[in-house]
Amino acid sequence: MRTAKQTFKHGIHPPENKEETNGLPIRQFSFAPLIILPLAQHIGAPSKLVIREGQEVVRGQILAESDGYLSVPLHAPVSGLVKRISNVPTISGKMTTGIYLEPFPSSTQEILDGEPINLDAASPDDILMGIQQAGIVGLGGAAFPTHAKLKIPDGKHCDTLIINGIECEPYLTTDHRVMLEQSDDIFLGIKYLMKATGAKRTIIGIEANKQDAADLLRERLPKNEAISVEVVPVKYPQGAEKMLITSLLGKEVPSRGLPIDVSVVVVNVATTAEIGRLLPHGRGIQERVITITGPGVKKKGNYLIPIGTPLRYVLEQVGVDESVSEVYMGGPMMGVAVANLDISIVKGTSGIVVFNKEQIEQAPQVYPCIKCGACVDACPLSLNPSKLGILAKFEFYEKMAEEYHLMDCFECGSCSYVCPSHIPLVQYFRLSKSIIRKRKVA
Ligand code: SF4
Ligand code: SF4
Repeated sequence: MRTAKQTFKHGIHPPENKEETNGLPIRQFSFAPLIILPLAQHIGAPSKLVIREGQEVVRGQILAESDGYLSVPLHAPVSGLVKRISNVPTISGKMTTGIYLEPFPSSTQEILDGEPINLDAASPDDILMGIQQAGIVGLGGAAFPTHAKLKIPDGKHCDTLIINGIECEPYLTTDHRVMLEQSDDIFLGIKYLMKATGAKRTIIGIEANKQDAADLLRERLPKNEAISVEVVPVKYPQGAEKMLITSLLGKEVPSRGLPIDVSVVVVNVATTAEIGRLLPHGRGIQERVITITGPGVKKKGNYLIPIGTPLRYVLEQVGVDESVSEVYMGGPMMGVAVANLDISIVKGTSGIVVFNKEQIEQAPQVYPCIKCGACVDACPLSLNPSKLGILAKFEFYEKMAEEYHLMDCFECGSCSYVCPSHIPLVQYFRLSKSIIRKRKVA
């Protein structure tokens, strides 16, 4: 039998920087004076408004319903007044339709329940519908609607469910704290997920730097359930689905393929906890756990933050150094540097990392490729980032996709991280992929 000591090929070991928040319990964040909710908070069609300006809403009420299969509803994170429906800023720099919601300061903020999903009585399709109605998307950062990910395509089957508690991104400790503090929700979530997918067994994958979480979950494993906890060595990007499947099962997901092609479904551990927490009450997601950390933050921690809380308010509450020079949503490897503090926390926000001037070097000078091969040794998918970088420079996008598997690249940034010539390889690949996608639809 394969042991958890095995891992995927290549990868890197950036400094983990998790010790300042991994021991800090999750704390509730206060309501901002104005909540800003973009309707597009997930991959797929944005939710469709069902309320109007001037309306009073109750916490948990649906504000916008799903608009098609690849879409989920948006729930009120707070009881309050819909002040305005107009454009709101997003992390991409584009404006999108959104809701400005003013909380009622004296309200009890009791949460409205919907249709509970009874685990024993519900069919797999009822559970998928319940997950969609709860507005759940991948909380690991991908924001892909979870019900769509769980739907097993005709002709395929799921034998193993993997719960992803890896959290390999430096600085972030959200999933770590969720595993330590929400084990009951996680195990209940797993039961819903096993029924929905038909999986015969579940493996919770955890990196060795969270041994306390692995020990706790092992201690509390429900009796007579085919659920196990496996600890894997620390290596970035172990949390990527394909890498984790290789580490835990020794299986390779084919190029351009999905986990279900090897009969596996992978779900993030915080998403699993939300399913276990919300479905028994028929509730929608209103808040999420976020790590706020980095050298520029005064009150670092793991916070339960209402969706729609403006980033500027978050930073005011935790206190930031005056010399702050860069704010990342997500971690430093796969997160995005924020250009506008008026954007808000959305369902896919897993962390906020703040750097001050000392940590952000001036952009290093880019030198020509010296063909050292370090990027090839780092790439977990055994792509050839050096060759892809050269092709990107000369705009040979089709060749990148057809001969060098560019579309398999999941932008982990390992190649850029190790490049001694500071070539911004991952930025080249992001841009090349978006050009290829645009050309396809043109
Ligand atoms: S960003 Fe893409 S090419 Fe670079 S190491 Fe990651 S998967 Fe490989
Ligand atoms: S790591 Fe940088 S310098 Fe080395 S082969 Fe790759 S692109 Fe070239």
